[in-house]
Amino acid sequence: MAAQLSIVVIMAIIAIVVVGMASYSIGLRDGEADRHSGIGKISDMELLFMQDSERNVAVYTLLESLPAPVVVCDAYGATLFTSRHLDSTIWEDGRLVDSEILGMLSVVSDSGTSRTRRMSPDDGDTWYAVTVASVGDGLFSVTFLDVTDQVTFERTRRDFVTNVSHELKTPAGAISLMAETITDCADDPEAVKHFSERISKESARMSELIAKLIELQKTQVIVPDGSLEPIVVSDVVKSAADELEAQIANKSITLSLNLDPHVTARIQTDALRSAVKNLIENAVRYSNTKGRVGVTVDCNDGGARIRVVDNGIGIPIAEQKRIFERFYRVDRGRSRDTGGTGVGLAIVKSVVEEAGGTVSVWSRPSEGATFTIQLPPAISDSEAAEAAAEAR
Ligand code: ADP
Repeated sequence: MAAQLSIVVIMAIIAIVVVGMASYSIGLRDGEADRHSGIGKISDMELLFMQDSERNVAVYTLLESLPAPVVVCDAYGATLFTSRHLDSTIWEDGRLVDSEILGMLSVVSDSGTSRTRRMSPDDGDTWYAVTVASVGDGLFSVTFLDVTDQVTFERTRRDFVTNVSHELKTPAGAISLMAETITDCADDPEAVKHFSERISKESARMSELIAKLIELQKTQVIVPDGSLEPIVVSDVVKSAADELEAQIANKSITLSLNLDPHVTARIQTDALRSAVKNLIENAVRYSNTKGRVGVTVDCNDGGARIRVVDNGIGIPIAEQKRIFERFYRVDRGRSRDTGGTGVGLAIVKSVVEEAGGTVSVWSRPSEGATFTIQLPPAISDSEAAEAAAEAR
């Protein structure tokens, strides 16, 4: 929808620019034609892109500043104007060379109706919504709107649904199987106890997964830039740690907090609490009994830095780049016992990136792990502009 809207806006700008330039160039063309009587065959549009007047330069600059590259060409792809460098699989030596685009040009030239098609010049790394439209005088505009993010999002959403279905199917299948087994061995109290305990465990896993998915979904609510007031980071970190009191006590973990109360950040309180809670929860989950977990908040690079350190089992280096992916668990077998859904770190990443920050990990197996959230300075763009104006 957003991509379609962008295409409409860009096409409208190109149309306005081209019509404006065309009407301006008619006067020039008449003058030129008078001077060079043989040049009468040059169209308004062609002349338009041949003129180097001050006004045309301004219009070229405008076309170059559009978010999508634009090409103006004839029905065979010979270009009069290219607003930006294009991949050689699309454009080479003054011509459009992509066979799909040349086909679209031919169709639009016959029908007069514009066409849009998605294509990827590099086998799926970049995606464009390519729109071909007639701009009159036998010329056409070809616009390349980058829709890579949209395509990636659609693919991620598809994978996500597949993964969620798979993650829920496994415990649901186990529960149904064990319920059947209980019916079959109703006269064996030991077996009934064993299977009902396992049913409780599997349903707890399902509930945890559903709760995490709801949490993940909540963190993905987009808030307009600049609409958030700075919050005191240490208060949020403290409340996240308080919520985990029972888990910390159960494993006799020593938790130490070192929180600078002056550090602020522009981020949604609930989202930050959820991110920090997930990190502390992991630090506790992947620590041995009587382990040590430390949480610090300080100012770094003008922004808030939150660190969660543990001396637990650690993460193999080869796994570290994958742990922020949704549903990724280093040891699936183990997580059946320890709990865990593989969604916690995806929540952390989503929250932190939404706030313009980063999350990183340092870890060595058997030594422990340190997760660091770095948030940008709490100063807003308008405050920065005011401060700059005052300094001048
Ligand atoms: P989970 O719910 O399984 O903990 P996460 O997304 O929070 O899912 O974490 C992904 C994986 O990263 C975990 O399964 C675990 O293997 C590893 N991990 C995360 N935090 C730690 C930690 N502090 N120590 C060791 N391993 C960790």
